[in-house]
Amino acid sequence: MSAIESWTSTDIRTVLEKQRAAFLACEPWSVEQRCELLERAIGLLVNHEREIIDALTADFGHRSPGFSKGSEVLSPLATLKQTQAELAEWMRPQQRQARAGEAWVQYQPLGVVGIVTAWNVPGYMVFSGLAGALAAGNRVMIKPSEFTPKTSALIARLIRSVYAEDEVAVVLGGADVGQAFCGQPFDHLLFTGATSIGKHVLRAAAENLVPVTLELGGKSPTIISRTADFKDAVAKTVIGKLLNAGQLCVAPDYVFVPRESVETFIGIAKAVVAGFLPTLKDNPEYTSIINSRHYERLLGYLSEAREAGVELVELNAGAEDFSNATRNKIVPTLLRDPGDDLRVMQDEIFGPLLPIKPYDTITEVIAWINARPRPLALYYFGNDAAEEAQVLSRTCSGGVTLNGVLSHASTEGLPFGGVGQSGMGAYHGIDGFRTFSHAKAVLRTAPNPA
Ligand code: NAD
Repeated sequence: MSAIESWTSTDIRTVLEKQRAAFLACEPWSVEQRCELLERAIGLLVNHEREIIDALTADFGHRSPGFSKGSEVLSPLATLKQTQAELAEWMRPQQRQARAGEAWVQYQPLGVVGIVTAWNVPGYMVFSGLAGALAAGNRVMIKPSEFTPKTSALIARLIRSVYAEDEVAVVLGGADVGQAFCGQPFDHLLFTGATSIGKHVLRAAAENLVPVTLELGGKSPTIISRTADFKDAVAKTVIGKLLNAGQLCVAPDYVFVPRESVETFIGIAKAVVAGFLPTLKDNPEYTSIINSRHYERLLGYLSEAREAGVELVELNAGAEDFSNATRNKIVPTLLRDPGDDLRVMQDEIFGPLLPIKPYDTITEVIAWINARPRPLALYYFGNDAAEEAQVLSRTCSGGVTLNGVLSHASTEGLPFGGVGQSGMGAYHGIDGFRTFSHAKAVLRTAPNPA
């Protein structure tokens, strides 16, 4: 089966049945066996770091090697190692109160978990999903994105080199294969991708009543309070926005800035970008947009905004000419107060464009956010405890980082997931273990009185 690279629904079902049969044929994997399975994934990341980074560079055209190493190798490595260290504790049955007798919750593997991933941080998504699903004792089938063909093929080759097909299998293909994959009767499905596709996935999963975790996208706001350390807030927001050229699900999508500080924000942003990206076009640290479709989409946002009279501020310290750019690189650009009807304020940006929304009061900011779909992430910079509490209690997002960006998503002790349009369910750490486990209720009745 491993030779098949044009997977049909029947091929996928054959592997699923093989995995399910193997799962049912033996005792659930012990903690030692699970740690050994995790160790194989660790070995892959340690021994193939260079290949993984090179494959990503080739798929993106230009991609920061430092970012690739951090996000696709070091971060999943930390996840896998932490999972090994904490797994025995996670697996312990939990005692519960009972009126009579003895009650506990016993965590049991579900069986076969399907994982579908997006293209923007493929190594991270594959290996962190794998960590949770294997930790919980499941067999795993993975369908990576077709938009990073070299990386997906490499992941398939590596995984097949250390796992038997009935342990972990990789299915390669495009949207049609993804569709066939999501129509299978898995015991759980973890899907990472666009909100629009998440709706199809949920519909397909419903046919077989497959429980799903949907890790979707959306527009994640940043709020800079009047009480913030302003320079620090601007620097962290802009640097966070430009990691992977804005192609991160938790990237700050747009930023609320006190009305009187917009000029200062622009000045600091220019200086910050000039410092860490003095050139852009041939700078390997500045990542390209993944393909021409997304490149054109982002240019479209800019031309629509320009035509609407929005002031665009290019953060192009070297004043490089991008009129004949060939590597799908986009100049980091601030958009000053674009109208809410423009596409850049409607769609998830997923690129290095940062709209600035001037505001007068925090109450108005909260109302604006709450009038829109619930975001995956929200960032608040400030030093006013009451205001911070107000933002935390009156907005609802998948997660929050305070006085920083992105970091809650890589904090393994926290559940990672969206809410509403940005997703459902969560994984990472113990929350991933529980997502991929069945929490079985067990009661041993009290002995009859003699
Ligand atoms: P996408 O939804 O287009 O594709 C994701 C995966 O789904 C791919 O493997 C693709 O082949 C597959 N697919 C496509 N159509 C399908 C269908 N009809 N049925 C089943 N599977 C199908 O997303 P993308 O463009 O790869 O990624 C970008 C999006 O992913 C952004 O919205 C981003 O915010 C989101 N994202 C979310 C997270 C998160 O953890 N919440 C992480 C990364 C990316």
